[in-house]
This record gives sequence, structure tokens and C-alpha cells, in this order.
Amino acid sequence: MPTQRQNVEDAPPRDQDVPWHSDAVCRRDEAGLFFAPSKEPTAARLSREEAAKRVCARCPVMVECREHALLQPEPYGVWGGLTAAERRVVLARRRRRELELKKAARAADPIAAAG
Ligand code: SF4
Repeated sequence: MPTQRQNVEDAPPRDQDVPWHSDAVCRRDEAGLFFAPSKEPTAARLSREEAAKRVCARCPVMVECREHALLQPEPYGVWGGLTAAERRVVLARRRRRELELKKAARAADPIAAAG
């Protein structure tokens, strides 16, 4: 769960100049569906996030949007069908996997790994 909430008024614009954005389903949706208003109760947040995810599920650029949000990383809002908390989980898994691959490479070839 995010430790800090962002007001809808402070939400970043979704019309950034990115190649996939012209196909985004959410272009005309209210930012309020994708970003939390201040002091949003938990039940309302869960309901809003599920509604945003339903929009994302029918979006043709969901994969591009999700990668964008992971690479930035975007700290707030639903992007590519993932909440900020879910994106943090994905990023943590990716970091763990990278470390495991490096560890395996060092074990397989310690001389090369030593440089
Ligand atoms: S995946 Fe969701 S947040 Fe991303 S562009 Fe599509 S509708 Fe918008």
C-alpha cells in the first residue's frame, strides 16, 4: 500500500508525448479514476482501482503503459492495470531475479565474473 497519496489535482498528465499514448483508452477518462483523491477511504480506493483496472484491461497499449510506469518509475496511480503497490512488487521481483542471475553467472564462471 502506498505510504503517500497524491491528490487528483496533482496527477501527472496522461497526454505525455509517448508513441503509444494516442491509442490509450484512458485519454478521456477522468484522472480521478486512476489517481487517488486526498484522504480516500480504503474501500473507495479498492473500488476505484478495480474500475481503473477494468479500463486498462480493454486498452490496446496496456503492456507499453505498464513498462513505462515500471521504468520511470511512476510512484502514483494505476498504470497498465497495476496499482503503485503492485508495481513495487513487480520491481522487487525483477531486482531479485537480476541478482540471482548475476550470482548464477559468477558461480558458473568465477574467472570471467572477477573481470
Ligand atoms: S493501460 Fe490503463 S492507464 Fe495505461 S494507457 Fe491504457 S487505460 Fe490508460
